[in-house]
Amino acid sequence: MYDFAIIGGGIVGLSTGMALGKRYPHARILVLEKESKWAFHQTGNNSGVIHSGIYYKPGSFKAKFCRDGCRSMVEFCQEHGIDYEVCGKVIVATEEEELPRLENLYKRGLENGIEINRISPEEVKEIEPHVKCVGGIHVLSTGIVNYKQVCEKYAQIIAQQGGELRLNTKVEKIVTSSNTQVLETNNGTFEARFVINCAGLHSDRVAKLGKVDPQAKIVPFRGEYYELTPEKRYLVKGLIYPVPNPEFPFLGVHFTRMIDGSVHAGPNAVLSLKREGYNKTDFDLRDFAEVMTYAGFWKLAAKHADEGIKEIVRSLSKAAFTRSLQKLIPEVQAEDLVPTHAGVRAQALMNDGKLVDDFLILHGQNSVHVCNAPSPAATSSIEIGKAIVAQIPEQQHLETALV
Ligand SMILES: Cc1cc2nc3c(=O)[nH]c(=O)nc-3n(C[C@H](O)[C@H](O)[C@H](O)COP(=O)(O)OP(=O)(O)OC[C@H]3O[C@@H](n4cnc5c(N)ncnc54)[C@H](O)[C@@H]3O)c2cc1C
Repeated sequence: MYDFAIIGGGIVGLSTGMALGKRYPHARILVLEKESKWAFHQTGNNSGVIHSGIYYKPGSFKAKFCRDGCRSMVEFCQEHGIDYEVCGKVIVATEEEELPRLENLYKRGLENGIEINRISPEEVKEIEPHVKCVGGIHVLSTGIVNYKQVCEKYAQIIAQQGGELRLNTKVEKIVTSSNTQVLETNNGTFEARFVINCAGLHSDRVAKLGKVDPQAKIVPFRGEYYELTPEKRYLVKGLIYPVPNPEFPFLGVHFTRMIDGSVHAGPNAVLSLKREGYNKTDFDLRDFAEVMTYAGFWKLAAKHADEGIKEIVRSLSKAAFTRSLQKLIPEVQAEDLVPTHAGVRAQALMNDGKLVDDFLILHGQNSVHVCNAPSPAATSSIEIGKAIVAQIPEQQHLETALV
C-alpha cells in the first residue's frame, strides 16, 4: 500500500513527488509514467524558458506561481549544478498600433512585481542589434534552462527520498473505494491511499477514471519550431518576443536562444489531430472525434476562425512562418530556418468555448487532479508541487510515523 501515487512523470508530477517527500519523509510515494523516459511530452518539448511572470492576470495562480517559480527554479539550478542562464528578454512592438498593448503589458508586469524597464527602439538595439521595432520592454529576470535536465534531478531526489519511480507504466483504470484507490496498469496493479493526477495531455481522461468531472476537455495545440542555421545564430542574443494577443494564452512566435546555444523560432499554435501528435500528419480517431463532437471547440472556432486559419497557413507555409519572424528581425530569410522539434500543449477548454486561463487543480475523493497546467507550468513547477501538497488534507498517520 502506497501513501501517495502520482500519475505522470512530467515536470508537474515529479515536482509534486519531490514536495511530498519533503513534507512526509516517511511516506511511501510512487510515481507512474507511461513512457520510457521522464519529461517525454510537454515538458521535454518546450521552449526551455524560465518565465518571469509578466503576462499573467494579477492575483492568478499563474502570476503568483510563475513569479515565485522563476526564483525557485534558478535557486534549484544553482543548488544542483544544472546549466541555466538569466539572459533577460525583450518584448517588442513592431507596429504603432501595438504600443497600447505593450503599455498594458508593462503596467501588468509592474503590478505583478516583475523587474522590467520600458525601453526605446534604440535601447532595444543595444540588447538585440538585429531587431526592428517601435518600442519594447526589457524583462530582466527571464532565463533559459533544459527542463529535461531539471526533471532528471527531480526524479533523482525522489529516489533519494525513498520514493519509487516506474517508467513504462500506464494507468488504465482506477477503482476507488472509501480508503484506497487501486490503479490498474499495463505493468501491474498498485494500491494507494491518495492519488495525484498530473497526466498532462490526458489529465481530463485520468480525472474521469478517478470519477472526477474536469468540466473541461483537453484540446491539443501543437507548437512547431524552426531552428536558425548555426551561421545565423548571431542574429539573436537572447529572447525576442512579440506583443501577445491578450485573447489567447499563447505568446506568439518568438526567438529563443536555448541553453545549448542553438536558436529556436516558434512555436505556432495549431490544432493537433492527435493529443500526442508531433507531426502534421499525425491522427488519432478518438482524439479527433472528441474535439469535433465537443460544443466548446465549435464555440471557440466560431469566435477565432480568422486566427485559426492564419495558424494553419503558418503551419503549412514556411514563407508565412518566415514573414511572422521577419516582423521581429527583418534580416531573417527562409533559407536561414530549418524545421526542428514540435511540442503539443495540453490546453483545457470549457464547454462554453472559453479556454481555461489559469492553472486548474480539482479535488476528488482521496485524490487531486491537475486539469490545466500549460505554460508557464515548467517555470512554476516547484511552486505548483508545493501548492498541491498544501491542498492535500493533513495525513495524520504519516505524522505519527515521524515521531
Ligand atoms: C511548445 C511548448 C512550449 C512551452 N514553453 C514553455 C516554456 O518555455 N516555459 C515554461 O515554463 N513552460 C512552457 N511550456 C509549458 C510546459 O512545458 C508545460 O506546462 C509543462 O511541461 C506541463 O507539465 P506536466 O507535467 O503537466 O505535463 P507533461 O510534461 O505532458 O507530463 C505529463 C505526463 O503524464 C504521462 N501520462 C499521461 N497519461 C498517463 C497515464 N494514464 N499513466 C501514466 N502516465 C501518464 C505522460 O506520458 C507525460 O509524461 C511549453 C509547452 C509547450 C507544449
